[in-house]
Amino acid sequence: MKRPTLREIPLDEVKLLPGSLLFTMSVNQWDHLLEAGYNQGATLLELDAHEQPVAAYRRCTCDLCNPTLN
Ligand SMILES: [Zn+2]
Repeated sequence: MKRPTLREIPLDEVKLLPGSLLFTMSVNQWDHLLEAGYNQGATLLELDAHEQPVAAYRRCTCDLCNPTLN
C-alpha cells in the first residue's frame, strides 16, 4: 500500500496519555491497520532503524478538514 499524505505533528506533541491510541511504524511502512488507526484519530509514531522517533502524524479533526463530520 502506498502511504497517503499524512498530517505531521511535532514530536513533542506526542503524549502517552491513558486511553490515547498510539501506533508505531517504520519509515514508509503503511498498511490497513495503520490506515484505520489514522482515520480514527490515532497518533502514528514513525521510528527509524534504531527505533528512534523521526516523525509523528495525526489526522486533523477541524471542521475545515472534515466537512462531513457535522
Ligand atoms: Zn484541519
